[in-house]
Amino acid sequence: MLKEDIRTELLEIFQELLDHFGPRHWWPGETALEVIVGAILTQNVAWNNVEKAINNLKEEGLLSISGLIKTRVEKLGNLIRPARYYNQKAARLKAFAELVNIKYEGDLEKLLSLSTPELRMELLALKGIGPETADSILLYAANRPVFVVDAYTKRIFQRLGYLEADVGYSVVQDFFTSNLPCETYLFNEYHALIVALGNRICLARRPLCQKCPLLHRCKTSSLEKENSETALGTTMGCT
Ligand code: SF4
Repeated sequence: MLKEDIRTELLEIFQELLDHFGPRHWWPGETALEVIVGAILTQNVAWNNVEKAINNLKEEGLLSISGLIKTRVEKLGNLIRPARYYNQKAARLKAFAELVNIKYEGDLEKLLSLSTPELRMELLALKGIGPETADSILLYAANRPVFVVDAYTKRIFQRLGYLEADVGYSVVQDFFTSNLPCETYLFNEYHALIVALGNRICLARRPLCQKCPLLHRCKTSSLEKENSETALGTTMGCT
């Protein structure tokens, strides 16, 4: 398919998702630090658990670089317990806060003002921060035009017929980045809309294709499969 055609289709998909779900106002968070803490805590857990953990930190007045630094990892783990894997995640929060404290004089803005490649490298050097978390921080906390890839992105765009099975993170990211205008708003909203579709409709098992705004362009919808199975069944019954 021509590059221009892919770009047009990706923008049409974006518009169809936006029309269906409306603006997502993602990422929820009053400050850049709250977005970063959420990005670290949300690994392998539903967002409502993350919200409980963040509220616990807020209630204790610890949602700050100095708050995370001065709190022992055990206490931090207890506060973020709803986010699961809480000891691991508490250590990650502290490691992030220590990076800001030691290398950037406790000033988060200094870290966030690095160039995009420098900031990405700095984040990826922290234990437990992979490409998805680093890119979520770049996009949603630092407002950089970086496309975030997650399991929903791969699943949906494989089903739509744009991606091969088992493609790696950077291949998927390049697919979007090289075919879409490089705009923070677009990447921000697009990822959030993909999450909405993957979370509510394009489920891993039994996707709810009859409710999907992308059904008319999907290569592998379960409806298509059901229809062909029904057709096959009818033929067999008639012969
Ligand atoms: S039609 Fe079904 S399989 Fe295709 S994207 Fe929508 S929910 Fe997923």
